[in-house]
Order: sequence, then structure tokens, then C-alpha cells
Amino acid sequence: MNTQVAIIGAGPSGLLLGQLLHNAGIKTVILERQTPEYVLGRIRAGILENGTVELLREAGVSRRMDAEGLIHHGVEFLFSGQRIPVPLSELTHGKSVMVYGQTEVTRDLMEARQSSGAPTIYGVEQVQLHSLKSDKPSVTFMHNGEQCKIECDFVAGCDGFHGVSRQSIPREILREYESVWPFGWLGLLSDTPPVNPELIYAHHERGFVLCSQRSLTRSRYYLQVPLTDKVEQWTDERFWNELKCRLPDELGQKLVTGHSLEKSIAPLRSYVVEPMQYGRMFLVGDAAHIVPPTGAKGLNLAVSDVNYLWRILRQYYHNGRTDLLSQYSQLALNRVWKGERFSWFMTHLLHDFQSKSAFDKKMQEADRQYYLGSRAGLTTIAENYVGLPYETVE
Ligand SMILES: Cc1cc2nc3c(=O)[nH]c(=O)nc-3n(C[C@H](O)[C@H](O)[C@H](O)COP(=O)(O)OP(=O)(O)OC[C@H]3O[C@@H](n4cnc5c(N)ncnc54)[C@H](O)[C@@H]3O)c2cc1C
Repeated sequence: MNTQVAIIGAGPSGLLLGQLLHNAGIKTVILERQTPEYVLGRIRAGILENGTVELLREAGVSRRMDAEGLIHHGVEFLFSGQRIPVPLSELTHGKSVMVYGQTEVTRDLMEARQSSGAPTIYGVEQVQLHSLKSDKPSVTFMHNGEQCKIECDFVAGCDGFHGVSRQSIPREILREYESVWPFGWLGLLSDTPPVNPELIYAHHERGFVLCSQRSLTRSRYYLQVPLTDKVEQWTDERFWNELKCRLPDELGQKLVTGHSLEKSIAPLRSYVVEPMQYGRMFLVGDAAHIVPPTGAKGLNLAVSDVNYLWRILRQYYHNGRTDLLSQYSQLALNRVWKGERFSWFMTHLLHDFQSKSAFDKKMQEADRQYYLGSRAGLTTIAENYVGLPYETVE
């Protein structure tokens, strides 16, 4: 089999890259090790930056998002029971974020891929990348018990943190930057109305809380928990009681509880690998970087990488621009590190750190007072939250 770009992974980054390239007349094959149902069963991100929304529109997959997504012009912070609104649009010349779940984004992209007739092969095993430093890389894999091979011009490694693409770069070339946080997030999804119209990021002495949502009738709540906790220890009743305990009475009384549709504990990690390309293979999204979800940046950074890569590949195929190919890693990383910084900052600001010294706790408190007590501080938070602008590819 031959194609122009072989894409490893049918998560949001692989599917979006595939759609944009297909629209530009560039041939792709997507390889995914799971089934479509499994991919759609993963409950993950839900906040789309301005730039993500725009790129989904550019890809022609925004019909349902524009009809059903909820535009948010603000968020709230909560410290010691005090509610502090952050008017995102007012502070960023009218920008906003959109609440529309990653599952729905993925579903829309899968449907568009299917209608386009471009091939996605699910259930592949033993994917291996070859000759990445040459002009003709290839990918081998097993499918339905048969050995298969794709010859291509480029490989896009969109296969997440545990994928094969990053591992195909020789260890002596990769530089890894990592920080593992000393707590996890216990998430619960339920068909209950959100406790507040805007998202709430709450600091509490018992631990951080995020009151998020997927729609007007579906809520997503998170609690900071010790890494040693197991999800089986958290019945729905215990979760709701703990959540109420960490919210002020006025919100606790409004909280509508219900049966959990999904409940899981995610460890928090900050991770970046450099460079994000090796020969004719490009790393995209979680394959190259992970953020703690506190800044709602994971999915948005994956889309940011796609934004750069598809424009570079389009320039290569349409205008013969080979010079841009080597710029991908740096362009992507410039924005990735800013997203990492914001996610790190939000995680520091909002969580309870048992391990912090008395001095560090005072610094955390001073940060809170400064950032949430001045227009300049709030503007910094707002412009990062709605998403920093992309650099132009030319
Ligand atoms: C539990 C959890 C909760 C999250 N919550 C949030 C959140 O609230 N907000 C936020 O912004 N972000 C969140 N994220 C991060 C966000 O979901 C990711 O940043 C986003 O999914 C990245 O997309 P991706 O396409 O790069 O990678 P993925 O979504 O991981 O997709 C990679 C795909 O590659 C496939 N694959 C892997 N290995 C192979 C292989 N060898 N061969 C073929 N296919 C392979 C995988 O099956 C997968 O489908 C969360 C992540 C997790 C894990």
C-alpha cells in the first residue's frame, strides 16, 4: 500500500490532521490499534480554545459543535469560600472558550473521515516505523493476522503517550523533561445539570475541586485525591459528599447529584520531549507532551501541533516548500512550552500540597492574591485560558 502521509493513531490529533490533509487533496492512511467504540468510550477533555474551534471549522467538522457547543465568556475561581469571576471575553478583546466534549469532537471527525472515504484501519498490532531518515519511510503492522506494509512520504506520530512513534526516535537524540505531581484527579461524569453556569476552579484545604460540564444536562466534576487512592474506594455517595464539603453552602445546596456514568482517577504529569521530529516523522499531541489538566490544555495543544503540521505539509505538497519541514518541531514547541507553563502555574496555584514548606505555602498565597486581585493578573490568566495565538507559517 502507498500513501503520502501515514498517520499513527485515530485520536483527535490523528483524525483532525487526516481531515485537513484530505481536504487539501493529500492522501493519508490512519492506523489505530483500538476499535472505534473503544476510542469513543474514553472520557477526556471538554474545553476548546478559540484556536481549536477555528481549526475545527476550517476542517469542515463544526456543524454539530456550533449547534450544540456552549460558549463560555468567563470562569470562576474560589478561594476560602470567596468567589472570584474571571471575565474572559472582557479581558481578551471578546475571545471565549467552548464547552464541547472530546468524545463529541472525535465522533464528528470519525464521521467526516468515513464520509470522505479515506482509509482508517482499526485494530492494528505491532506497528513499526522504518527508514524515517530517508525520503521513503514505511510502516509495517499486523492486521487480521496478516503482515502489512505502507510506503509513504511522511509519518505523523499521533499515537498518544504510550504509542510507538516517540519510541522510534533513538534515545540519544531525545531530550525528556518531566515532572510528576504528588496527587491525582478523581473525575465523575453524570447526567445532572451543572452546579453553576460557569466552570469553577476551587482551592480548598481538603483539596482542589473543578466543577466542569459537557452540556446543560451533563456535568463533569473532579476532586484532588492522593495518588494511593483507588477508584473502588470512592462510591458515588462518598464522591458527592466530599464535593459538597469542598464547596461553599450556597453552591453545595444547589448541587444536583446522580448516578455516575464514568468515574476514574488520573495521575497528573507534566512532560515534554524534544525534538518533536526525527527525519520524516513528526510527533503530534500527547505523543510528545502531557500537561496536568488544570489549564484545560491537553487537547488544545494537540490541535495546536496539528495546526502547524498540516500547514507545513500543505506548503510542501502545493508549493514545493521543503524548507518549512525542519521548522515544525520548533514552531510546535514554542507554543507547547507556554501551555506547559500555564498548566504548571494553575496546578501550583490551586492545589493543596502537603509537601510544601511553610515558605512555599506563603508564596502560593501571594500568587493567588496577586493574580486574582489585579486586572493585570486576571488578564494573564484569561489570555492563556482562551489560548495564545498561533504563529504564522509562511
Ligand atoms: C484520563 C484523561 C483525562 C483527560 N482530561 C483532559 C481534560 O480535562 N482537558 C484536557 O485538555 N485534556 C485532557 N486530557 C488530555 C487529552 O485527552 C489529550 O491531550 C488528547 O487526547 C490528545 O490527543 P491525541 O490524539 O494526541 O492522543 P490520544 O487521544 O491519546 O490518541 C492517540 C491514539 O493513538 C492510538 N495508539 C496508541 N498507540 C498506538 C499504536 N502503537 N498503533 C496505533 N495506534 C496507537 C491510541 O489508541 C489512541 O486512539 C485527558 C487525558 C486523559 C488520559
